[in-house]
Amino acid sequence: MRSLIDLQQEYSGMLAPTFRGFECGEGWSAVLDRALGDLRRSAPQVRLSVAKEKLGTLRLIMDDKLDANASAIARRAEEASAQTCEMCGEPGRLISTDCPVRTRCATHEADR
Ligand SMILES: [Zn+2]
Repeated sequence: MRSLIDLQQEYSGMLAPTFRGFECGEGWSAVLDRALGDLRRSAPQVRLSVAKEKLGTLRLIMDDKLDANASAIARRAEEASAQTCEMCGEPGRLISTDCPVRTRCATHEADR
């Protein structure tokens, strides 16, 4: 699994000038890798503005909110993140019964 720093270099051309870095755990790097690869293939003119964890899942905000391919990629990434531990990348579940709402595998369930 590539690190978030590696992804930022690999996909630097796909990131908007205002991009502040990946604001999520390393466990989602494979989800981000897939999303950015898909973006480069199917919506290469669109740039990623924001990638952050919010209410337990990964939210991607693109600089073109009307592009259908980019919107589909963001939706797929959000769905995938809800099944992927944000800490380690293993299969996880969205824990919404206590705070903060988060996606974790069994090992990292208690980690905030
Ligand atoms: Zn985990």
